[in-house]
Amino acid sequence: MSNTAQQKALDLTEELLNEHDPSGDRFEFLGAQYDLGLAWIGFDEGFGGLGLSPRVQGAVNARLAEASAPMCYPRNPIGYGMCAPTVYTHGSDDQKERYLRKLFTTEDIWCQLFSEPSAGSDVAGLTSRAVRDGDEWIVNGQKVWTTLAHVARWGCLVTRTDPEAPKHKGLSYFVVDMKQPEVEVRPLRQMTGDAEFNEVYFTDARIPDAERLGDVGDGWRVALTTLMNERVAIGGAQALRGSGAIGEAVKVWNGLPEHRKDLATQDELMKLWSRAEAARLTNMRAGQNRTKGTPGPEGSTGKLAFAENNKAIYAFVMQLLGAEGMLYGSYDLERSGNAMNSSTLQQAFLRARANSIEGGTSEVMRNILGERVLGLPGDVRTDKELPFSEVPTN
Ligand SMILES: Cc1cc2nc3c(=O)[nH]c(=O)nc-3n(C[C@H](O)[C@H](O)[C@H](O)COP(=O)(O)OP(=O)(O)OC[C@H]3O[C@@H](n4cnc5c(N)ncnc54)[C@H](O)[C@@H]3O)c2cc1C
Repeated sequence: MSNTAQQKALDLTEELLNEHDPSGDRFEFLGAQYDLGLAWIGFDEGFGGLGLSPRVQGAVNARLAEASAPMCYPRNPIGYGMCAPTVYTHGSDDQKERYLRKLFTTEDIWCQLFSEPSAGSDVAGLTSRAVRDGDEWIVNGQKVWTTLAHVARWGCLVTRTDPEAPKHKGLSYFVVDMKQPEVEVRPLRQMTGDAEFNEVYFTDARIPDAERLGDVGDGWRVALTTLMNERVAIGGAQALRGSGAIGEAVKVWNGLPEHRKDLATQDELMKLWSRAEAARLTNMRAGQNRTKGTPGPEGSTGKLAFAENNKAIYAFVMQLLGAEGMLYGSYDLERSGNAMNSSTLQQAFLRARANSIEGGTSEVMRNILGERVLGLPGDVRTDKELPFSEVPTN
């Protein structure tokens, strides 16, 4: 990374902090951050970036966190980490202008409408349909597990536009208005008590053709941009050494009475610490190699390591807490606008169970790494070349 690029971004960050109160109005501060090109530094100027290496973003974010500035990601995680890079990579300048700034300020929350009841890991097997009607498309079908759909203004939708084409080739990708009455959002409750995700039903919902990203039938390629960025958004954090889940575990360990700090448990803690540190360093290396656009398979390594480590660490924390680990404030339905709500260790433990499912399961990550990194033979895919209408379904 060039020092000049980093210095330029850090100088602009100081200008932002001097001229805009980080404890003031969130929209105003984030808007100013976007206008200075500090939202996604790798994006071009005018679209929230500076056209510099995205690696510089980490230093800017660290300085903003130190100043307790508002952040886009916690409020709009799908928008920031996945929809924005997709709109940026595949959208027209008009779409970028209309969407990116309000996404970054969190005035507009975004959601990802990919999974369906019978299409999760195999998302290209989805059956929701869009049919062309002049300058518009009419959409029918059901999506599921849609995080933050209940507060979303816009959604990134992949749907089938040609059932006679093979399954990956008959899809198209749209930005859909979530506030139209033909889109119904119903809560799905998780074991944390929260309903951070939803079922979404489309009944003759309409999307102007101008809201398509990529060509008709090219939706899978566009979706890959979202999916690859999703892995990085979930598992690619370049956190400080000893922070995050492993930091919580060390804190709980330090608070234990001396007679409970036996060597076997300490050994377990050290193994988890080493795993977390190895994942952190791998993410740092991947981050330094990453250029803008679509991340490579290292995103799958980071996602896999994050999910498996987080689950193991929080299970270990529950073990340290003993009976206290069973205390849970309330299972009342929470319908907050936050995804990944983990305000207590017990809640973090329950929420971590989802880490190896969301954003692609650990089994699917291993398949990707086996095939793309190790060059092992691919999964058997008998339906790949068949017209989708001829693929047997149950
Ligand atoms: C908290 C949370 C938030 C989510 N948010 C969103 C969202 O905002 N938008 C969205 O579109 N989706 C979202 N999802 C859905 C998520 O992407 C899917 O749950 C995930 O892709 C798995 O799909 P599935 O649940 O249908 O399981 P399935 O695909 O049915 O998998 C079932 C089991 O089979 C295994 N399996 C499947 N295929 C293979 C294979 N080829 N090889 C080996 N094992 C395999 C899986 O690993 C899993 O253990 C969310 C999920 C969670 C848990």
